[in-house]
Amino acid sequence: MKIYDLIIIGGGRASSLAAKAGKLGKRVALIEKSKLGGTCANRGCVPSKLLVGYADVLRSIKESQRHYIKSTINHIDIAKIFKENNEYIAGVDEGYKAMLNENVELFRGIGSFVSDSIVEVNGVKLTAPKIVIATGAKPKEPPFKDAWSSDDIFPLKKIPSSITIVGAGLIACELANVFDALGVKTKLLVRGETLLSNEDEDISKVFKQEFSKKIDIEFNTTIKDAIYSDSFFDITLEDKAGKTKKHTSEALLYAIGRESNAKTLNLQNTHITLDKRGFIKRDKFFQTDAKGVYVAGDAAGEYMLQHAASFEMNHLYKYLFEDKKEPLKFKYMPHSVFTDPEIASVGISEKEAKDKGLDAVVSKTDWLASAKAESMKLKYPFTKFIVDRKTYEILGCHMIGPQSSTMIHQVLSVMHIDNDIRHLKEMLYIHPALSESLLPAAINAVKEIRKLSED
Ligand SMILES: Cc1cc2nc3c(=O)[nH]c(=O)nc-3n(C[C@H](O)[C@H](O)[C@H](O)COP(=O)(O)OP(=O)(O)OC[C@H]3O[C@@H](n4cnc5c(N)ncnc54)[C@H](O)[C@@H]3O)c2cc1C
Repeated sequence: MKIYDLIIIGGGRASSLAAKAGKLGKRVALIEKSKLGGTCANRGCVPSKLLVGYADVLRSIKESQRHYIKSTINHIDIAKIFKENNEYIAGVDEGYKAMLNENVELFRGIGSFVSDSIVEVNGVKLTAPKIVIATGAKPKEPPFKDAWSSDDIFPLKKIPSSITIVGAGLIACELANVFDALGVKTKLLVRGETLLSNEDEDISKVFKQEFSKKIDIEFNTTIKDAIYSDSFFDITLEDKAGKTKKHTSEALLYAIGRESNAKTLNLQNTHITLDKRGFIKRDKFFQTDAKGVYVAGDAAGEYMLQHAASFEMNHLYKYLFEDKKEPLKFKYMPHSVFTDPEIASVGISEKEAKDKGLDAVVSKTDWLASAKAESMKLKYPFTKFIVDRKTYEILGCHMIGPQSSTMIHQVLSVMHIDNDIRHLKEMLYIHPALSESLLPAAINAVKEIRKLSED
């Protein structure tokens, strides 16, 4: 039996936890079954967002007519795009390995539990007073043979001439945007009527309207059957009324959500329990139902975002090694959808505010007061605030428009330091920067509160 101070199963975001504990002089066992860096760096956020840069340029050219410019794309050097993207991925594992130190022993293999305090990898038994499960999540399996999940895309192989993507969430929409922009004949299949149904209703409505102008989307449609032969899928589509039609596509990608990875862990040998969705249960101190075993990141199934997982690993480090016994509590959790249109959001939606019966005002303001926004020649971008009527606290902010993911950080700063929308109304903005569009949005929200208070 090998004895450590800390065992970590899963080398995604938790690699940094391993490195930091090692630096502190703790003996750490880090177990990773695939590549260090995990989903985000190898097959998630980073390689997909590196492609967004190409998609943005291609869309600007394709849509240049909006600025009275006629243009055509002569050639897209797909080979070079793939090479660069794959070169990035090829360096990830080494890069993460270099972050580790002599106190961290890396095991390449599947880690599983023999008991609450003993973990096995490659037939070797390890024990430690502190064990962290950071095994992430995995895409739901496609129901048809040879169909892809998001895990099958990176590293990029041959680009298909056509792709059918099933899903209506963030990953489905981001990948549809990228493939379509790169010139792949793309069809997005959506079971219901909505795209991005987790977003505020006004945002998902405008998103559907604008995204449908770019991407071929079929709503209320599912796949009844898909047979792969001669390098093509022969697909039978079925609508809500049961009517079927044929469709062919070189690639078929399912992006229908992510699920727990817990099965590989042999949790039946422990006291650890799972929630209804199959993710590992924990308390607010990351503690599972087995004493000394903690869970962090996607494995706990809460926010399933890279920045949430990173934040959790930092917090857990402080909890385990700096005697900072504060519970895990996110003040707010932002996210973005890196599509065209781009979306950024934090906090509750209008519907959530209503459902919770909160005393809140809602205000929606377009960006057109800013000349930079006007210069983009887009009518749809807007910011929506949901603000506590008594305290002026920002409860939710939702944006749709170019660079939303950057713009929202101004709101996040206020929420982080002293959450009061009046700061956004009273601060100085650079005229006529895109961010200036936040000024009328904040003014309108405050006006709305004052109007209601006078009534
Ligand atoms: C296509 C895509 C795009 C995304 N885009 C974004 C984005 O733009 N922004 C954002 O915030 N998030 C994004 N995400 C989500 C983000 O990638 C995850 O939230 C993040 O990677 C979670 O980190 P983690 O360390 O908890 O899990 P992971 O990064 O999944 O790491 C878990 C690791 O554990 C290993 N493992 C699992 N089981 C075992 C076992 N039994 N033994 C040993 N090792 C094991 C896995 O191989 C993996 O390396 C995206 C995800 C995908 C799929």
